[in-house]
Amino acid sequence: MEKFFDQLSVPHLSKIIDLLHPCMDDYLYVYDFTNDYYFISPHAVKRFALPSNEFNNVIANHKKFVYPVDLYDLQEDLALIISGEKDFHNMQYRWLSTSCEPIWVNCRGYAIHENGKPAYMIGCINEIGVKQKADNVSGLLGITGLQQYLQDHSYTIQQGFLLRLGLDDFKEVNEKLGSDYGDMVLRRTAECISSCIKTGQLLFRAVADEFILLDTQCSNMKHAVAQYKLIRQTVDEFVEANHYEAVFTISAGILPCTIMKGHTFSDVMKLSEFSLNEAKREGKNRSYIFEQADYDKFLRRKKITQLLRQSVNNDFEGFEAYLQPVFDSVSNSIYGAESLMRFRTEEFGMISPFEFIPLLEETGLIMPTGKWMLHRSLTICREIQDLMPGFHISINISYIQVMKSNIINEIISAVDMHGIDTANVIIELTESGLLESDSRVTKLVSNLKNNGIRLALDDFGTGYSNFHYLNELKPDIIKIDRSFTLKALQNDYEYQLLSLMSNMVHSLNLKMCIEGIETNDELAKMSKLSPDYCQGYYWGKPCPYDEFKALYLTQ
Ligand code: C2E
Ligand code: CA
Ligand code: CA
Repeated sequence: MEKFFDQLSVPHLSKIIDLLHPCMDDYLYVYDFTNDYYFISPHAVKRFALPSNEFNNVIANHKKFVYPVDLYDLQEDLALIISGEKDFHNMQYRWLSTSCEPIWVNCRGYAIHENGKPAYMIGCINEIGVKQKADNVSGLLGITGLQQYLQDHSYTIQQGFLLRLGLDDFKEVNEKLGSDYGDMVLRRTAECISSCIKTGQLLFRAVADEFILLDTQCSNMKHAVAQYKLIRQTVDEFVEANHYEAVFTISAGILPCTIMKGHTFSDVMKLSEFSLNEAKREGKNRSYIFEQADYDKFLRRKKITQLLRQSVNNDFEGFEAYLQPVFDSVSNSIYGAESLMRFRTEEFGMISPFEFIPLLEETGLIMPTGKWMLHRSLTICREIQDLMPGFHISINISYIQVMKSNIINEIISAVDMHGIDTANVIIELTESGLLESDSRVTKLVSNLKNNGIRLALDDFGTGYSNFHYLNELKPDIIKIDRSFTLKALQNDYEYQLLSLMSNMVHSLNLKMCIEGIETNDELAKMSKLSPDYCQGYYWGKPCPYDEFKALYLTQ
């Protein structure tokens, strides 16, 4: 190779470049170290802020057309070539266009030696944007640029972090102010982030409204958080300077580079996406540092959601209705049962409803499973009534079912279909999910009443215990949650509070059910509050239907 170049001089090469340039989109160049001279395809002048297509004082002239942030890295790399420490130059960085926009270029070159010393470099420059690797809205390199960088440097990255930044609720900005305005916001956000970048860090645009900052030097994640805070402050300042025309915040997920080892690029993207989503899930306008334990929980939730969906599509295999006895404290006999959903899988065994019910609600799968539970519970109730006439069944309904399905019609037609007296059916609604002012809730309540089905307000005493509910919803039964029962058992003040509540409930002509009574002592203390119904491990844990029959219906 070098032998061939021996016969060529820089003027020869310049002549060849000159001849070839009309046939090419890319730009060929030769950089003569000995004479500090640079020659590039003449059409480059039309695109970039070059002083001319040939010039001396190469480093000084580079300042005119290389994007200032990238100049230091370029000079460092060129110094290694000129000193002979490396032969091949391969860098992605930005040149300034004739209208001063940063344009991502891929710059490669090969050093040719004369008398054992690097004499000149010949190479080619191409625009990355042409291959859709760069983003023309933000002027940043796209995600493939990050992939390339990580591939090229995977062995040398020992520390640092990936900071994935995402605008919060950017969709709203686009919807309210239009996509051109949205583009302006993205461009300005990219500038805000760029202004907080330190030497050696790189910034990429990920999807739509997300950016990824790569740092390969930092060993303490506190610095990543500090840098995020600085970016957030800069964005806040922009929002203020823009007279609050578009009000938005920015969140960040921090992935330490040490976690990236052994992962494919697509896995790394998943982990950084997860981190950003966690920051948003925790309330937005904040950062989150990746934790393996959180990720494992996320994977578990994802897997369980998948199993729930499979099960729904497979005739509800794995779902079961357990029954817990409800006792009538006045007659001291069994009043009925609360029907509680269970979900069992081969992989995870029995999963707690506290874990899977929120997943059913998030995915909307609570609609089919809730309906299934309704029919299953009523089937069971009908069968038990043959042995124990007057048996009552309590069925839990999620507020998602109230908001998103025609639950009232479902309940009324199911009760009718199973041939059960409406007076034997109780619908339980959790207090914390309710909005008493929502017309769907008030409609449900009045329809239940008109049809003679009773409503129990579940979990009373947790969350926002709003006494307004009592007047607005006029529930028939108030269920005191175990957490309240426990507090009342341990603390005299709480006990007095519960006692007052019991008086109030009774003076409003409502019934009270105390949940979570486990021992004889607890029963003795709670009995003084004259509850109408009681429920708890003292009488029995929720159990499968067959077991329930054997335990309570044989006498
Ligand atoms: P919940 O409706 O308040 O049900 C009472 C919970 O307290 C049940 O937990 C029951 O096993 C537990 N419990 C009852 N007595 C005692 C006791 O003496 N000591 C203790 N430590 N716990 C007691 P479970 O079955 O795990 O259900 C948890 C929650 O899941 C339910 O709370 C309810 O909010 C929800 N859930 C269960 N089944 C359904 C359903 O079919 N639909 C809907 N929407 N939610 C359901
Ligand atoms: Ca309940
Ligand atoms: Ca309850």
